[in-house]
Amino acid sequence: MSVKLHTDSLHKIAYSTDGSVYREVPQAVAFPQSVDDVRQLMEVARERNTHIIPRAGGTSVAGQVVGSGIVTDISRHWSHIIEINAVERWARVEPGVIRDELNLALKPYGLFFSPETSTSNRCCIGGMMGNNSCGTHSLVYGSTRQHVIEAVGVLTDGTVETFKEYTVGDLEGRFGQHFWRKFEIPSLIERIYAQLITFALDDEKMRLINENYPDKSLRRRSCGYAIDEVIEDLCNDNKPLTERTINLCRLLSGSEGTLAFITEVKVALDPQPPSELMVLCAHCKTLDASFEANLIALQHNPTAIELMDGEILRLSWGNVEQERNRFFVHGNPEALLITEFRADTRGQIDQMANALESKLAASGLVDICTRVYGDDVARVWELRKAGLGVLSSMKGDTKPVGVIEDTAVAPHFLPAYMKDFDAMTRRLGTKCVYYGHISTGELHLRPILNLKSAHDRQLFRDIARETTLLIKKHRGSISGEHGDGRLRGEFIKLQYGDETYELMRQVKHCWDPDGLLNVHKIVDTLPMDAMLRYEVNQHYALDALLGENKTYLNWKAAFDDCQTEGATGAASQIHALMCSIEQCNGAGVCRKSNLMGGTMCPSYRVSHDETRSTRARANVLREILTRGWGSEVFRRADSTGTNLLDIPELKQVLDECLACKGCRSECPSNVDMTRLRAELLQHLHNHHGTPRRTWMVAHMAQFEMLGSWMPHLYNWVARWRPTASLIKRIVGFAPQRQIPLLSKHSMRQLVVVEAGRKHHVSIKGKVYLMADEFTNHQDALLGLKFAQLLMRLGYEVEIPRHVESGRAAISKGCLNLAKKHARNNYRLLRNFIDDNHPLIGIEPSCILTFRDEYPDLVDSSDRRGAQELAHNCLLYDEFLVREMEAGRITAADFASDAMDIWLHGHCHQKALVGIDLTVKALKLLSGATVHVIPSGCCGMAGSFGYEREHYKTSLEIGEMVLFPAVRQATAHANRETPTFVAAPGTSCRQQILDGTGIKAVHPIEILERYVTKA
Ligand SMILES: Cc1cc2nc3c(=O)[nH]c(=O)nc-3n(C[C@H](O)[C@H](O)[C@H](O)COP(=O)(O)OP(=O)(O)OC[C@H]3O[C@@H](n4cnc5c(N)ncnc54)[C@H](O)[C@@H]3O)c2cc1C
Ligand code: SF4
Ligand code: SF4
Repeated sequence: MSVKLHTDSLHKIAYSTDGSVYREVPQAVAFPQSVDDVRQLMEVARERNTHIIPRAGGTSVAGQVVGSGIVTDISRHWSHIIEINAVERWARVEPGVIRDELNLALKPYGLFFSPETSTSNRCCIGGMMGNNSCGTHSLVYGSTRQHVIEAVGVLTDGTVETFKEYTVGDLEGRFGQHFWRKFEIPSLIERIYAQLITFALDDEKMRLINENYPDKSLRRRSCGYAIDEVIEDLCNDNKPLTERTINLCRLLSGSEGTLAFITEVKVALDPQPPSELMVLCAHCKTLDASFEANLIALQHNPTAIELMDGEILRLSWGNVEQERNRFFVHGNPEALLITEFRADTRGQIDQMANALESKLAASGLVDICTRVYGDDVARVWELRKAGLGVLSSMKGDTKPVGVIEDTAVAPHFLPAYMKDFDAMTRRLGTKCVYYGHISTGELHLRPILNLKSAHDRQLFRDIARETTLLIKKHRGSISGEHGDGRLRGEFIKLQYGDETYELMRQVKHCWDPDGLLNVHKIVDTLPMDAMLRYEVNQHYALDALLGENKTYLNWKAAFDDCQTEGATGAASQIHALMCSIEQCNGAGVCRKSNLMGGTMCPSYRVSHDETRSTRARANVLREILTRGWGSEVFRRADSTGTNLLDIPELKQVLDECLACKGCRSECPSNVDMTRLRAELLQHLHNHHGTPRRTWMVAHMAQFEMLGSWMPHLYNWVARWRPTASLIKRIVGFAPQRQIPLLSKHSMRQLVVVEAGRKHHVSIKGKVYLMADEFTNHQDALLGLKFAQLLMRLGYEVEIPRHVESGRAAISKGCLNLAKKHARNNYRLLRNFIDDNHPLIGIEPSCILTFRDEYPDLVDSSDRRGAQELAHNCLLYDEFLVREMEAGRITAADFASDAMDIWLHGHCHQKALVGIDLTVKALKLLSGATVHVIPSGCCGMAGSFGYEREHYKTSLEIGEMVLFPAVRQATAHANRETPTFVAAPGTSCRQQILDGTGIKAVHPIEILERYVTKA
């Protein structure tokens, strides 16, 4: 067999979930690349009496890709754009092509694939077709179903079929006249067409379909099989039967991989929308008023209308950045109805908005309307995203749960439906936030539930059932975009009635008589509350191992601090640690590619391997620490009773994590794998002993301190090939890397001497510099330059007594040691570092340790004090910008020479403070053009890139964006204008040098070179 079946526990766990609340361990995982691979897999599934689960990005929220069969991931190897025909406006793609990546390729043609999802930077065309996805602009563009012109797929008998529009005459030409009347139909494809033609010609079946399918005006419907849509033209009495058409793509869209395995898709493209954009934000008097106002707005040719309720707005309160994004909100409206207009000129959109605004004013439904134009519209959506971010990162066991999150009714039914819905939620004693695609009648309603409690589990079911009854009453769809999966199967029957549901079962059994494709989805599903991720009163295997409060980091503090209404505090440190892992809801942002920007998750980006994503790490940690050896994945005859720290997958997933903190800021649920990794590695070291390399890297600063007594000797040993090779072999470093050399004098020594010199400037204030463990011994001159820069700008500089930051210890999971450093530094610095006398750092990873980790590393009685200290520990750019804003440092202090600066930010800096401030600080150089390289992590990540087994991956990560950008920047440099590659991180600069041979500088070095002040 050419396609490999992965039956190891790592793959099985990584693929046991998706973006839903379900978990089921598959038999195996496969990565097909061809039609033959799919056929083989079908044969294997048949032999093993199991089924195949086609899977793309795995972002489904109704459990579509969770099951016991062979999960068949097409996203890894099957993701090429085959052909773009700009004239006829279509593209042919493999099913694993990511939606936003397709649109990047289409941009030069002025075209785009218009169906969208909030997950569009990682969901694939195959998955969008599977779920019939659509988004904000479905009012104009419809859903994926309307865009699939043609598809190629493998049927369950192994035949390959092209699905496109055929007339009945075409089909008769292929299968014979009136083939649907044959007593015995030989081929599967013939039976498929015959069944649908028979349905269309059967009055009773048509009556069932017409009476029970959702209202025809409903644009969003991803519930059950779209039998009505696929046979629509077959029922067209105005044409002779032979001329009526059928395109099976209409049924396959939304069939969730249950009918055929799609291997190629031809999609229709749309021209890019007109350039002028505006949203009219109607501040509605009440939520109910927004449903009525929506009907008025719909008459004014909007491209989208979205609802944001007052609760979402309130959730973003207190966030400094979001306060700026509220610029278009007046007061505290109960609901905002946001109507989007697009046109070729501003005059045209204003005209459209004027007409709507006067209608709304006359209706008495709204208090005020505000307008937002062009790029600022993104800030409106940012505000909504921030509110939702608070919800999705809600800490504790209660979470907004996806169960009725995409119900849709025709907009004119919305006011009545929402009235009934409101009464129902009151009766059930639950609460929802309201937002979503109101123009098409779909609202994202998510009740806040604790699925570990028996009471809320019952509510989970009750809400689904009662909402379905309301949906039936208002002729809507229980799913407007997310599909049925295993969540809604039970309720399809309730919505459509037994007989119509039976027609759907007949469709499934016709296409897939032996149950080979994604069984128990859409029809014949298991109960909606079977196979949930968590059990009632969930116990943790970790509890038994560690007992109470034996964690190194203070996990509980974040939960105790959490202010979000409905969030539950954690009962213990272990509970809090587990809740941190359970923050992962599988939404898959960690699968976005490097073309989409950001950092998360470098190990996935470079490999396209799900098992190396943050999601997989969270899955594996949850499985091990919750179920431990009791999990069916690990259970082996010889393993009962063994320590769960012996499960090899634990070390395996932690080992591939670069501890870059990308997930800490980019994961919408704030899964913080860097911390989880550090905590668990320490427990592994306790159990297995600390590995030699780990110990040496964690104590590197101490080795360097010893070496600094005789730096020449140290450097000779580190440079001379035989000794260097020996050291690298002992430590386990890659032979290609150079051991960092030591400066002749430490930064501390150089700055003391410099501070003793006379500086002829008036003193603006006193600051403290951190002589971090990298700069102090390896790059002392850089430290000196920073001191000189500050002194020339008028600051008195001192390096206080402090110890190393402990960054390396944290990265290597030596938290005992890191705690010691944190306590020492806190004790040494707390009394004199304050607002007026900040501690400033040059190396982002070190100074930011004070901010990010110290409060949770020091004794809990010192937490508050450590937070205050953290507040006054600033990265160099934060300090410079603070002083710029106060007018104490200006561009006049620097030369205005023209120069190009290509900036690569450190990943910890990007995660915790961003690099905007570096760009701002570099604006002090008024002649500089700063280009931010859209790189994520450089790939070095402390010692990761030095480690022998990670060396190749490390360079591959650098090669994704950073190295090519650096090469290009320097290749195009001209002699007149100096070009700098700037990187504040020591490791990043080393990585750039090793990967490109180009020497990068710290931004401080450029500022220091051009400061003109004496
Ligand atoms: C936070 C969040 C926001 C979301 N927002 C939206 C939204 O705005 N709009 C929306 O429509 N959805 C949304 N979704 C749901 C989901 O992202 C979309 O349905 C998405 O299109 C699924 O794509 P995927 O690549 O992840 O597919 P998967 O989840 O992997 O698969 C989806 C379905 O397609 C089937 N499938 C995949 N490949 C094939 C194939 N080759 N042959 C046959 N069947 C196949 C699978 O079996 C499955 O049933 C959201 C989900 C999350 C977590
Ligand atoms: S780690 Fe974060 S981004 Fe990735 S799937 Fe989990 S919640 Fe989503
Ligand atoms: S810390 Fe970085 S490498 Fe590790 S899981 Fe998070 S994003 Fe991925």
